[in-house]
Amino acid sequence: MRQVDDFSDERNKDHCVHCGGPYETDDHVPSKVLLDEPYPENLSISPSCQRCNNELSKDEEYLACVLECVICGSADPDKIQRPKIARRLAKSPKLAALIAKCCRTENGLMIWDVDMNRIKNVILKLARGHASFELAEPRNMEPDSFLCKPLATLTAEEKLRFEDGPQIQFSACPEVGSRAMSRILVQGTDVYDEGFLVVQEGRYRFRATQENGVTIQMILREYLACEVVWS
Ligand SMILES: [Zn+2]
Repeated sequence: MRQVDDFSDERNKDHCVHCGGPYETDDHVPSKVLLDEPYPENLSISPSCQRCNNELSKDEEYLACVLECVICGSADPDKIQRPKIARRLAKSPKLAALIAKCCRTENGLMIWDVDMNRIKNVILKLARGHASFELAEPRNMEPDSFLCKPLATLTAEEKLRFEDGPQIQFSACPEVGSRAMSRILVQGTDVYDEGFLVVQEGRYRFRATQENGVTIQMILREYLACEVVWS
């Protein structure tokens, strides 16, 4: 992934973007478990404390595995498409069993009653990382709105929000010097694809804007649409 320089306020970068605690380690945004090798170069990073980093990594593994099981319709490692996830499930039968237990069939449809709290933890983590890295707008408080559902189930109105592309207005421009601002200035090169920054084709793309407050939209595995807004 091509990366642009960031000249935003240094004071935004000296604490954990999740809890406001000390800056002890760098978090990849998105986490590598959501991507496959070879990894894109220059992955974004955000400052984190050790505690948040450790606590969230279990949930990230959970989300990556759940997503793959839902897409492939099974928690059996032999039926999983992404080799990395198949290996993780094979190595952790406990996790595979936990996910398999979430699946039931109703009127011929597969329904997965997954732990939405754990999934929300990860989506918030990703959004906080993008808000900090792209917009230089760290947000460790609860968001004003949160959406996380399969792309195919978005309402017409939600779909529009995802498909519209960035409507950049001067009143809503990102902080001068932030990466998002620099990306606007270089738009027309290879940075954007239909308004989204593609971190890895088919795995992860996102958009960070300040149209209506800090808005982060992410599409995981071309399946899960997520939107987090701090208005
Ligand atoms: Zn923290």
